[in-house]
Amino acid sequence: MEIVELLPRLHLLRFEVGQAYLWRDDDGFTLIDSGIAGAGPAVADALRGIGAKPGDLRRVVLTHFHEDHVGGAAEIAAWGGIEVFAHQADAAVIRGEAPAPPPVFTDAPEWERALFEGKPQLPAAPPVRVDHEFEDADVLPFGGGARVVAAPGHTPGSSAVHLPVFGVLFLGDAVANVEGRTMLGVFNMDRSRALESLRVLSRLDAEVACFGHGDAIVGAASAALRAAVPRGAA
Ligand SMILES: [Zn+2]
Ligand SMILES: [Zn+2]
Repeated sequence: MEIVELLPRLHLLRFEVGQAYLWRDDDGFTLIDSGIAGAGPAVADALRGIGAKPGDLRRVVLTHFHEDHVGGAAEIAAWGGIEVFAHQADAAVIRGEAPAPPPVFTDAPEWERALFEGKPQLPAAPPVRVDHEFEDADVLPFGGGARVVAAPGHTPGSSAVHLPVFGVLFLGDAVANVEGRTMLGVFNMDRSRALESLRVLSRLDAEVACFGHGDAIVGAASAALRAAVPRGAA
């Protein structure tokens, strides 16, 4: 796993597939997404690598139920003293109480379906408890007040988390930034809803954008998000 410092308070953790982020407050750390199944020891190493320890992790915030975002959560939650947060619409899947519905490619470009069929099979995410279900506009207790921005479409409970005080925006898979291009995330359950969410996200004020896949943008992130809205769809 690769660790990238984006800001003194913010590190990107890059796994074999997908990414998570560590946010540091003075009273402890928040992990946004949790990597693939088996990622727990790598997250512990990442904390040690930046001068902290696993016991400094206070909470895990899950942007949506996909296995490359939730996979490590069960083992990390078992460290103790950690609260798990997720949107109410994805919580049942995350807890293992409902099956994960697949993406729908009806109105997606053909290359996206081909990409999905060719992607490596990941281990299923072990079920994990959700201690706090959030919804749009809720404020989570980190980063000076972390505001949930519901971004449904990728999954029903897909959510971004905005730290207005720091100009940081965690996007999960609502938006991707791959091969130098900021774009709508792929493998959506409802693509038109996901496009509507992209429009909402593009209106937020952010300097730093953190994606589930692809390089983070540090500086003028809002402009890149606005440019990602397809023409004619604004
Ligand atoms: Zn996803
Ligand atoms: Zn993902």
